[in-house]
Amino acid sequence: MADIIQLLPDNVANQIAAGEVIQRPASVVKELMENAIDAGSTQIDLVIKDAGKTLIQVTDNGGGMTYTDARMCFERHATSKIKSADQLFQLTTKGFRGEALASIASIAHVDLKTKMPDEDLGTQLHIEGSNVTEHEPCACPDGTSIQVKNLFFNVPARRNFLKSDQVETKHIVEEFLRVAMPHNDITFSMHHNGDEVYFLPAGNRKQRLISIFGKQYDERLVPVDEETTIVKLSGYVGKPDKAKKTRGEQYFFVNNRFIKSPYLNHAINNAYSELISKDHFPSYFLFMEVDPQSIDVNIHPTKTEVKFEEEKSIYAILQSAVRNSLGKFNVMPTLDFNQEATFSEFIDPNRPVVEPEIKIDTTYNPFEKEKQAKLNNGGSSIRHAERSTFPSNPSTNIQNWESLYEVTRSSGVNSEQTVETDLNQSEQRKMFQISDKYIFTSIKSGYVVIDQYRAHYRILYDAFIQQIEHRNGESQGLIFPETVELSKTDFKLLNAIEDELKILGFAYQKEDYTINITAKPSSLDEVPSADIIAQLLDNFKMNADNNNVSPKETIARSLASGTAIRKGKKLNPQEISDLVDRLFACEDSQYAPNGKKIIINFTFEDIEKQFN
Ligand code: ADP
Ligand code: MG
Repeated sequence: MADIIQLLPDNVANQIAAGEVIQRPASVVKELMENAIDAGSTQIDLVIKDAGKTLIQVTDNGGGMTYTDARMCFERHATSKIKSADQLFQLTTKGFRGEALASIASIAHVDLKTKMPDEDLGTQLHIEGSNVTEHEPCACPDGTSIQVKNLFFNVPARRNFLKSDQVETKHIVEEFLRVAMPHNDITFSMHHNGDEVYFLPAGNRKQRLISIFGKQYDERLVPVDEETTIVKLSGYVGKPDKAKKTRGEQYFFVNNRFIKSPYLNHAINNAYSELISKDHFPSYFLFMEVDPQSIDVNIHPTKTEVKFEEEKSIYAILQSAVRNSLGKFNVMPTLDFNQEATFSEFIDPNRPVVEPEIKIDTTYNPFEKEKQAKLNNGGSSIRHAERSTFPSNPSTNIQNWESLYEVTRSSGVNSEQTVETDLNQSEQRKMFQISDKYIFTSIKSGYVVIDQYRAHYRILYDAFIQQIEHRNGESQGLIFPETVELSKTDFKLLNAIEDELKILGFAYQKEDYTINITAKPSSLDEVPSADIIAQLLDNFKMNADNNNVSPKETIARSLASGTAIRKGKKLNPQEISDLVDRLFACEDSQYAPNGKKIIINFTFEDIEKQFN
């Protein structure tokens, strides 16, 4: 029988390698930028068009390549960075596998121009699907410029799997930042479809973070510095009260290479435990310098995973260094609007313990009470509304909306009577709160347990959607305008949702990347604008991958989830019954906008079964 095994042609081998190394436009950005850094550049400019689907161009002012190297660099396993396997463990460069350019050239149209500073002429080269169609001397600036066009032109399956421009751009920005962040001594710029997205001048580490994330980070960051024999650690962590609801700002770098490490992330989370709530993520920008021999970078094709020799020690060092910093800079936890109750509210050591007193009312007449309760329910008495601890009401078309927010108590009645009346109301409806989280109530067919946070989330969400649709948000002017400083990307994001924000009642002036808020929805008057805006933007970033959620829905979700009553919040009987009424008036009272269950039903049958 004839032999059937043969070596794959180079272009096929390259395409297979490309499958691992180049997953999307952002992967090209990463590889080209890393090459520019390895070439010793002091300025690197990234230009993309249509989220990198049409063009990705990286221009540097580094060492350049010779005429021959300009051709060689597109060969598989062609690298100037290592010569033997033992050098794998002394890496000081980003690249070493010599497969990025070969992979890219096999699945795109590539133009290269390169010149070494002490040469008069440079080289230009055109290559398409691994075929070189042009290779000649040319006049060009010092350094290297590579243009990658029509990515995946010959791999339709890949091309069709690309996400929307918005999502692909988000990935590119992320890769750009991961490379730019640790290399603060290099000037970077990024342009997309002709607009400047980032300009990051060379400077110190903190300046780099501030030019990426915005001026407001100056006071949000706490420095971390620790030097041991195993690792030299530096960088910044975010103050606990500025923790985010998205994982976004968590960066580890080892020898200036971005890495992902759930294990080390855990160390940081531990350092923050008790300082931030469970659904928040600390921000961190941590740079570790270790002996290249003590890590293995070559365990993953994109080199974002690294094996440490002394992983456990590094874990311990990280955790204690971050703790120390938080302690040293006296960063005390402060409450944000997502956390309602503190433990101190429940456990106050200074409060004397009072034994409950039992009073017997000898004039008690059950029938009289029932009469009074009916009267109150009929609403015939004039009620003096008093602001409850709920966020105030978004006015909507829903009838009686106010009743959810305004605690109604007859003035002039003594407090004992008030309690009695409240009890009556809730007893009548058989409703009560369990462990300050759930509401238990009866319906015709059995019982239901309602998640109070999700119920309120649904109610507020529907109200915000109605306001946007009917363009009738209620605005409240601010006596003192609130200033929010944004990063460039956040600012752009905000511009994209300006219409919806205005409909809801926001009014603001823009100046550079700062917005001065002069009015905001009256339902949010107790929540600081900076928090509202930060949460809105976070939600937008989180939903960027999800094309099914419209801006309107994202805004409504964000505002509603941020202001809904939390679990752990004690509700009075009036609030309980209002919440339940409003919930059942919603079109979908079963599920919260995030798809989570609001209500659990127990039929009498279910209950009977349990006793069998
Ligand atoms: P690696 O970076 O792993 O060596 P690449 O395929 O990314 O592999 O690049 C191959 C070689 O091409 C590099 O080793 C380097 O010698 C050369 N090269 C690539 N980009 C540049 C650049 N921007 N400036 C100078 N040389 C470059
Ligand atoms: Mg490389």
